[in-house]
Amino acid sequence: MERLTLPPGGAAAVDEYLEYRRIVGEDDGGKLFTPEEYEEYKKKVLPMRLQNRLFVSWRSPTGMDCKLIGPETLCFCTHRYKQHKTDFETVPQQRPIELPCRVTGCQCKAYHYVPLNGTQPVRCRCKHFADQHSAALGFACNSCSKCSGFHSCFTCACGQPAYAHDTVVETRQERLAQGKPVGRDVPYAAMGGLTGFSSLAEGYMRLDVSGIGAPSVAVLDSPVSATDHPFLRALQMPSTSASQTLTDGNEGPSTQISSLRKPEEDDMAYFERRYQERIKMEKSAKQKGKALLPPGTKPS
Ligand SMILES: [Zn+2]
Ligand SMILES: [Zn+2]
Ligand SMILES: [Zn+2]
Ligand SMILES: [Zn+2]
Ligand SMILES: [Zn+2]
Repeated sequence: MERLTLPPGGAAAVDEYLEYRRIVGEDDGGKLFTPEEYEEYKKKVLPMRLQNRLFVSWRSPTGMDCKLIGPETLCFCTHRYKQHKTDFETVPQQRPIELPCRVTGCQCKAYHYVPLNGTQPVRCRCKHFADQHSAALGFACNSCSKCSGFHSCFTCACGQPAYAHDTVVETRQERLAQGKPVGRDVPYAAMGGLTGFSSLAEGYMRLDVSGIGAPSVAVLDSPVSATDHPFLRALQMPSTSASQTLTDGNEGPSTQISSLRKPEEDDMAYFERRYQERIKMEKSAKQKGKALLPPGTKPS
């Protein structure tokens, strides 16, 4: 068996490429930016991405976020979330916010999640699969004439039928107003509703109705193994990160951008660690029966 070998500095180059890809997403149109274009892109896009992030989830009529949409999550149009428009210079005023597909020729006007039945697309009441329907408004079936538009009776893990759910696109403020988690600011493209490791679990696996709560600390701290989701494995923290000191929790977008090139720790791992530490702190504060202190204040 042949082994993959990397030239000296090769691993760092791979890390740099992965970082580039997470930040740029599909925005380079498949042709790598030059270093100058990349710098220019970051200067232009990152501030608006951090300020105008839109959170996307698939919500049950009970208010539970059954699915948090991530960059790779498929749309009804068969394209991924990251292939849709996700960055806005100013947040649109109209509701619902529509995130159209950017793939040439695709008629999808708004990102629209459809659940999978295991690894299979779900069926419409016309018996044809979701991907046999048109992505244009009306969602007519391409394979029969009796379909009045895609309608799935597939039952979600929450017990409600798929058709009773909505794909919800909301701002940070709208999400906070509902008591939903927003996680840390991240510079990456098309993060959708992902706010932490537990976002990858289905709503009912996050074990609460609101979507606010997190699994026990023991679950969160268990080591990432080879059987875990590739996303988790990719984000596995280097052991050196545990000894890093924390910075003040009030940094704005500008300092977060400047911390992009932290050498020992992946940004996502950094933000995730900070997020989980805060959850732990809040938990232990609750357990002691104390009121939650705003960040930065010292308990008297
Ligand atoms: Zn779409
Ligand atoms: Zn599309
Ligand atoms: Zn149909
Ligand atoms: Zn049909
Ligand atoms: Zn559900």
